[in-house]
Amino acid sequence: MTLRIVAVYPDLLGTYGDTGNAEILGRRASWRGIDVDVLHASSADPLPRGDLYCLGGGEDGPQVLAAQRLKDDGTLRSALEEGAVVFAVCAGFQIVGNSFPDAQGTLHNGLGLLDVATRKGTGSRCVGEVVVEFDALEHGGLGLPLLTGFENHAGLTTLGPSARRLGQVRHGTGNGGGDSSEGAFQDRILGTYLHGPVLARNPALADLLLTWATGGGELQELDDSREIALREERLLSATRATNREGFARKP
Ligand code: GLN
Repeated sequence: MTLRIVAVYPDLLGTYGDTGNAEILGRRASWRGIDVDVLHASSADPLPRGDLYCLGGGEDGPQVLAAQRLKDDGTLRSALEEGAVVFAVCAGFQIVGNSFPDAQGTLHNGLGLLDVATRKGTGSRCVGEVVVEFDALEHGGLGLPLLTGFENHAGLTTLGPSARRLGQVRHGTGNGGGDSSEGAFQDRILGTYLHGPVLARNPALADLLLTWATGGGELQELDDSREIALREERLLSATRATNREGFARKP
C-alpha cells in the first residue's frame, strides 16, 4: 500500500513555504522504507484522495478562494470522515475551522471540520518566532517536545468545546484569543499558526502525523541530529527575543 500525502492547493496556499511540510512527511516516510507518494494538488483540479492532507498559509484573497473551492469539492470532508489525517497551517488552520475573516474583516464560513473560529484582530499583525509548550499526555494533550515556528497572521482564533489546544505559548502570540493557547486538534485534524515549515523544526510532530496516517504502529527511529541542531538554534533565538521583548506578544 502506498501512503498518499497531498499538499492542498500550493497555488493558493503556498505563500509561506508550508508546502515543505508535505515534502518533509514524504521524506520521513521514505527514509523508513514506507512506499509514499507526495501529490501537489492544484486548485484547478478535483482534490485527489489521500491519507494525509497538508494545507498551508496564504494571503486573505487566495484563502477565501481556497475555502470556497474545498467546500465545493467536498473531498477533504469525506476523506477526513473516512480516516484521513488533516494538517493545517495558518490560513489552512482558519479555513478548516468554522469561520474566518477576509481582508475587510467580513466573516466567511470555513469547512467546519475543526471547532475553532477566527476573527480579525484590531492590533498589529502577529509576526515573529513562537515557542509553545505542548499539553502533557496525562492532561489529554499530545505531550510532544517544545513546538518552534514562525507566525505571521492578523486573524485571532478561539477554540470551541470540541477542539483542544496544542499547548501554551511561551513566546509569541499563537491563537491570540487571549488565553495564551496555540493551535488545536480534534480527532485526526490538527491546526497550528506556525510556519517554518513547522515540520522541519519539529520532527516529533511530523512523526505523530505519520503515525496517525499509517495506522498507529511505532515508527522506526531516524537520525534527527540536523533537525535537533536547527531546533536548538531557533529556540535559542526565541529565548534571546524573550529576554529583549518580554514573555509573550499581545495581539
Ligand atoms: N490571512 C490570514 C491572516 O492574516 C492567514 C495568514 C497566513 O496564512 N500566514 O490571519
